[in-house]
Amino acid sequence: MVVAPSGAGKSSLVNALLKARPEIRLSISCTTRPPRPGETDGKEYHFVNVPAFEKMQRDDDLLEWAEVHGNFYGTPRSWIERQTEAGNDVLLEIDWQGARQVRAKFPEAIGIFILPPSIEALETRLHERGQDEPHVIARRLLAAGGEFAHAPEFEYVIINQDFSAALADMTTIVTAARLRFRSQAARHASLFSQLGIPQTSAPL
Ligand code: GDP
Ligand code: ADP
Ligand code: 5GP
Repeated sequence: MVVAPSGAGKSSLVNALLKARPEIRLSISCTTRPPRPGETDGKEYHFVNVPAFEKMQRDDDLLEWAEVHGNFYGTPRSWIERQTEAGNDVLLEIDWQGARQVRAKFPEAIGIFILPPSIEALETRLHERGQDEPHVIARRLLAAGGEFAHAPEFEYVIINQDFSAALADMTTIVTAARLRFRSQAARHASLFSQLGIPQTSAPL
């Protein structure tokens, strides 16, 4: 799970990570936010209206959901279940409220919080991205303080000052996660069984 206040660079980092590690699957959230210029339905998000979102909530189609900056966002459940059953690594780009809900269901999920190098840099990036109205940027900056307060809930913190250094950090975390006992045991089941390694002794 990758979490950060708006403008910290999570989408840029996640997109670069996926190019370097094409085996990782990115969950595409549903949102009631209107598409930004250049966003395509089904690529950055599934763009839905409020009644459609409420129907997904009622039907328990969302693994988690939250209201963020006045819009609803949620992670489609069935896609995640299919990927995890197939043994694929899944990445979620969600907010801290969603991360809590995912952690309650999947305690082994790994959380990465991305920080900007300063508040000033965050503001500059939101303006330079040039995709949100000034009042939307103001609202997101105001929310950032409250979001930083949740950073201690995450295992890893990346400071996105130099982009390539931050990308290297993120790749390292993904590599470490893939090398955990449980991941390796699932990926190399026949080797583990041939070597007589017990299945159940690992904490993670
Ligand atoms: P960004 O913050 O500039 O990337 O702007 P977005 O409008 O793409 O995202 C707004 C917020 O919604 C961010 O905090 C996201 O992490 C969060 N978000 C996106 N998708 C989901 C989701 O499926 N579930 C939850 N809980 N939060 C999401
Ligand atoms: P988020 O998804 O967290 O809202 P974005 O990935 O859209 O953030 O990044 C916000 C803006 O900051 C984009 O215009 C992006 O090009 C820029 N950006 C991201 N990382 C860096 C960095 N390390 N240095 C300078 N600008 C950056
Ligand atoms: P944006 O509208 O700028 O794309 O996203 C705003 C915030 O919503 C970001 O913090 C983003 O991580 C969060 N967000 C996006 N998708 C989801 C989601 O599916 N669930 C949750 N909980 N938050 C999301």
